[in-house]
Amino acid sequence: MERGKGQTPREILHERGLRYSRPREVILGYFSERDTHVSAEELYLELKRRGEALSLSTVYLNLGVLKNAGLVREFAGVSGEALYDSNVGPHHHLICKGCGAILDLPELTVAHLPLKTFLKQRAESDSGWQIDEPNLDLLGLCPACQRAQEGACEPRQATP
Ligand SMILES: [Zn+2]
Ligand SMILES: [Zn+2]
Repeated sequence: MERGKGQTPREILHERGLRYSRPREVILGYFSERDTHVSAEELYLELKRRGEALSLSTVYLNLGVLKNAGLVREFAGVSGEALYDSNVGPHHHLICKGCGAILDLPELTVAHLPLKTFLKQRAESDSGWQIDEPNLDLLGLCPACQRAQEGACEPRQATP
């Protein structure tokens, strides 16, 4: 994972006048072990299982700090719930409506531009609006849920 100028998380936090506190160290340690997408609650429960005495509100608070420092990325899961990602490099998420599974998809490009940049520039020049960074996570059905759906006797409603 690319971090600006090879800085460590500690250096990035210090640069912003933030402490590399125990909760931040524990949370970043968890994220550095694996590429994962977790909610604050899931992270809280996992850390608790490991014997870390962090409250849920401490986990929330520090995820927010780490997000603002660019060390974790927040995005919306299948029900709009906030999820956190250790991979802050450019990528899209494929999110399964059936089971909530999330797959990282490498960033797509159009006309040699990242798709997000292309969309933003195009929308701004067409409308005169100032556009925020577009969210290009895609909802769909993972292969397992497609198979489950094909195997089902009754056709399922396609409502979200
Ligand atoms: Zn699925
Ligand atoms: Zn991701």
